[in-house]
Amino acid sequence: MAKYIFITGGVISSLGKGIASASIGRLLEEAGLKVTLQKLDPYINVDPGTMSPYQHGEVYVTDDGAETDLDLGHYERFTSARMTRANNFTTGQVYDAVIKKERKGDYLGRTVQVVPHIIDEIKGRIRKLVELDPNLDVVIGEVGGTVGDIEGLPFLEAIRQFRLDLGWQDVLYIHLTYVPYIRAAEEIKTKPTQHSVGTLRQIGIQPDILLCRTERDLSDDVKRKIALFCNVDPKAVIQAKDVDSVYKVPLLLAQEGLGDLIIQKLALTARKHQGTPLGEVIERMEHPKGTVKMAVVGKYIEHQDAYKSIYEAIIHAGFHNSVRVEVTKVDAEKIEKDGPGLYLKDVSGILVPGGFGTRGIEGKISAIQYAREHRIPFFGICLGMQCSVIEFARHVCGFDKANSTEFEPETPHPVICLLSEQQNVKNLGGTMRLGASPCELKPGSKVYEIYGRHRVMERHRHRYELNNGFREIFEKNGLKVTGLSPDGVLAELIELEGHPWFVACQYHPEFQSKPDRAHPLFASFIQAVVEHQGREKGSKVMTNDK
Ligand code: GLN
Repeated sequence: MAKYIFITGGVISSLGKGIASASIGRLLEEAGLKVTLQKLDPYINVDPGTMSPYQHGEVYVTDDGAETDLDLGHYERFTSARMTRANNFTTGQVYDAVIKKERKGDYLGRTVQVVPHIIDEIKGRIRKLVELDPNLDVVIGEVGGTVGDIEGLPFLEAIRQFRLDLGWQDVLYIHLTYVPYIRAAEEIKTKPTQHSVGTLRQIGIQPDILLCRTERDLSDDVKRKIALFCNVDPKAVIQAKDVDSVYKVPLLLAQEGLGDLIIQKLALTARKHQGTPLGEVIERMEHPKGTVKMAVVGKYIEHQDAYKSIYEAIIHAGFHNSVRVEVTKVDAEKIEKDGPGLYLKDVSGILVPGGFGTRGIEGKISAIQYAREHRIPFFGICLGMQCSVIEFARHVCGFDKANSTEFEPETPHPVICLLSEQQNVKNLGGTMRLGASPCELKPGSKVYEIYGRHRVMERHRHRYELNNGFREIFEKNGLKVTGLSPDGVLAELIELEGHPWFVACQYHPEFQSKPDRAHPLFASFIQAVVEHQGREKGSKVMTNDK
């Protein structure tokens, strides 16, 4: 029977609850246990698919096409658990399900209430993961938000009842808290932690383990004080000190004895771990052979979480190539104002990520033109691929007004459009293509060589496609479609002939990159960046006539 660990957060947000949960998953996996993770989100949106990346960061897409919280990205990067739509749910989904049942008459005329109906729906969704995979040893549930939030109460009540339903030894509560150092007093303060644990206890949850996020080492005295006032075992006061890389968190927590403590408290039996220990990856990370510089040109540049998986995939590709990658984040709108040279002259690689809407598009197109003409390695992802097709159509094929119908519905050269528009079907489309689907690679192409396979599965989140009416003309001019959906209809990958590294994909490879298994496209791109930086940069400008 699976055991459950619930992780709550206290004092303030942004303490890294997602990373802490994922790290605990990793620790247990390295003890040979089969784990999965789930994010319980108290907000009312049904899913984050419609939320602004400024507010919510990246929308993480699972294999089965769910648009989920970015913490699921951490879970997949840190563990081998595969996320599905069952691994993330929100208050919105819970109420939606309960109200639908009420409308169908499932409650037989009873009054429908938060307790028990909403709570039971939450508990059912937590139990679902074990129904889907009976071989799980541990389910780790991360409760979003901070203890004390009004909207989080039903979730806390549900996890409180879980221990009564299952038994004391089968459920563990871990609380992530903040222990600040007050410079003026030159002291570490435990009071916020005491208050936050106090609030949890009022709800009926006594945490078993406290993870104390701190800038400074916590002395034994401080740990004893926290243990005393929060009513936990002194051994269960675990320090979570700030680190320079999230991938070090599992190692630090292991050193603090967290893995063994959980195993002991839940009476689990550790087994032999298959796979690379994270320590080996860190070893490579700590000794890079050098630093390379690249740029990410996007719209949500100021928000550090908006392209989370992209930045992580770049870091993994750096580990793979034993280099540190310095990423300059360039706002596409600035390129529109000042031109690309100012921002891109010192970089050895340019990546344009996905996105929606018109803002910044022309800046992205200029950046891609700069990469193509200066023979700088270029990697386009989703919208980045679509912009590279527009750029090529305009500046190489001579279709001056080429555009995507997303940005210019009346363009005379709709090189990117909806599939329904290509097939002259009205009122179709408008729905997003979401989740994993197969892509077949053209033998002899660069991407075939990179993946070393004929067929790959990659995740999508987009509506628009390359217009097949232009495929022949693109191919003639040197833009090759080298990956296609198995029916040959959807262009999944393009690459530019005669350029050192110019590859773009319609899907999102960043969702499948891991610290110990960099995604092949990212690994190859960073290798090209390393090579470019090693060569005399920009000595020969590629012209439009190839
Ligand atoms: N806006 C584009 C589309 O819907 C690209 C989407 C993306 O980059 N995720 O097709």
